[in-house]
Amino acid sequence: MNKPDIRHINFEQLQDWVIAQGLPKYRAQQIYDWLWLKNVASYDEMTDIPKTLRQQLAEHFDIKNIQTQSIQISKDKTIKCAIRLFDNAVVESVLIPTSSRATACVSSQVGCSLDCKFCATAQLKRKRNLDYQEIYQQVYFIKTLAKEKYNLPLTNIVFMGMGEPLLNYSNVMKSIEMITSPKGLGMSPQRITVSTSGIAKMIVKMADEQVKFNLALSLHSAIEEKRRQIMSISESNTLEMLANALQYFYDKTGTRPTLEYVMLYEFNDSIKDADALVQFCRKVKSKVNLIEYNPVDNSPFKRTTKERLENFVHYLEKNKIIVTVRKSRGDDIDAACGQLVNKNTLAES
Ligand code: SAH
Repeated sequence: MNKPDIRHINFEQLQDWVIAQGLPKYRAQQIYDWLWLKNVASYDEMTDIPKTLRQQLAEHFDIKNIQTQSIQISKDKTIKCAIRLFDNAVVESVLIPTSSRATACVSSQVGCSLDCKFCATAQLKRKRNLDYQEIYQQVYFIKTLAKEKYNLPLTNIVFMGMGEPLLNYSNVMKSIEMITSPKGLGMSPQRITVSTSGIAKMIVKMADEQVKFNLALSLHSAIEEKRRQIMSISESNTLEMLANALQYFYDKTGTRPTLEYVMLYEFNDSIKDADALVQFCRKVKSKVNLIEYNPVDNSPFKRTTKERLENFVHYLEKNKIIVTVRKSRGDDIDAACGQLVNKNTLAES
């Protein structure tokens, strides 16, 4: 018989179950803390729960956990983890350390249904959405790893791993609810960034729900025809639709969205491209994050040069645009942005 997963029932349901077993209510809180605060892998680890109750729990509920399949450490200390999910599908999660803190980059889908021409994950078909606990457990795992390996606190989370988070909306939202809840990881939503390829109606939905986390949009070109060449999602989500949705997001939430822009050599890195970006920024209160392109097998693109990057940055700054440059991290182990493709496990899938 298929037992329900214990992390799939909410606190009230767990409490009802505990009461129905004739047990004191406070047991529900204890069990819940073990499940979320401490993220235990088995009932046996619930040391202050009587053995008989642990057995009852095991009879009624499954307790599912992600497993680490492998970890690779880059020379810049970035760690890429292949994570085995509940059904043995594999995704990748990345730990990105600085000297004082760590960021977790998590996946939201197995593979991806989009076909962005510069992204390795696009070479994998989308197999399924991740369950919210699979996302939560990735964060928990990276947090533990950051402490164990580098003695660093996990301070930031980016939904920039495999998949398009807004195409797995409810699980992503539910995972963020638990990541930010004091009953879960208790992190600040301001430390979380959801990155999207740009689905205007979902951006509007998030704005209406007045989410508190940060939003990043993968823009990559502010010239319509060019954007269409590299991101087919832009056919149904034009620049105008995205500009309106982002401005709406800013008006509703007060959070300035980030525009991500991968610098592709002689494709989108000229002054003409920078000027189009400036015009786009004039319509939307935003900030720009330029990203170094990370090489992907079978891709026609190349990383821009230092000089072209500097000229581009200079042009944006001259026009009073807030701009930062994201340096590549972990590219020697294919852990950098856009390189997550399960290389080590592809043969099996
Ligand atoms: N699907 C989401 C999140 C995943 S990608 C999105 O599209 O935003 C996270 C960021 O890495 C995005 O901005 C994405 O466009 C960028 N990216 C993809 N491939 C890249 C590559 N080869 N080099 C650098 N950045 C890349």
